[in-house]
Amino acid sequence: MDEGCLSCPGVLVRIQRQSQVLVEGQTVNGQRVSYTCDRVLAHCIQHEVDHLDGRLILDYGLARTEPALATDDARSTNVIRNFLDSLL
Ligand SMILES: [Zn+2]
Repeated sequence: MDEGCLSCPGVLVRIQRQSQVLVEGQTVNGQRVSYTCDRVLAHCIQHEVDHLDGRLILDYGLARTEPALATDDARSTNVIRNFLDSLL
């Protein structure tokens, strides 16, 4: 599935993820909870857990820009380069 992220505006990366996940945790009152999630919600949870682990979609490989934001390869490269430069 191609993923975008508000932390990387205009960038999409194809990422293979598990189609189903089990989430376990506890409420603010200490009650244990667990949820089995699939499809898009499973992808979203894995994406957010990546953030907790300090990982961005850019860590998964080749990024490309959303078609609406880039009309050619040169512009795509510039969008990605500018974003990466902003992280330094
Ligand atoms: Zn994100």
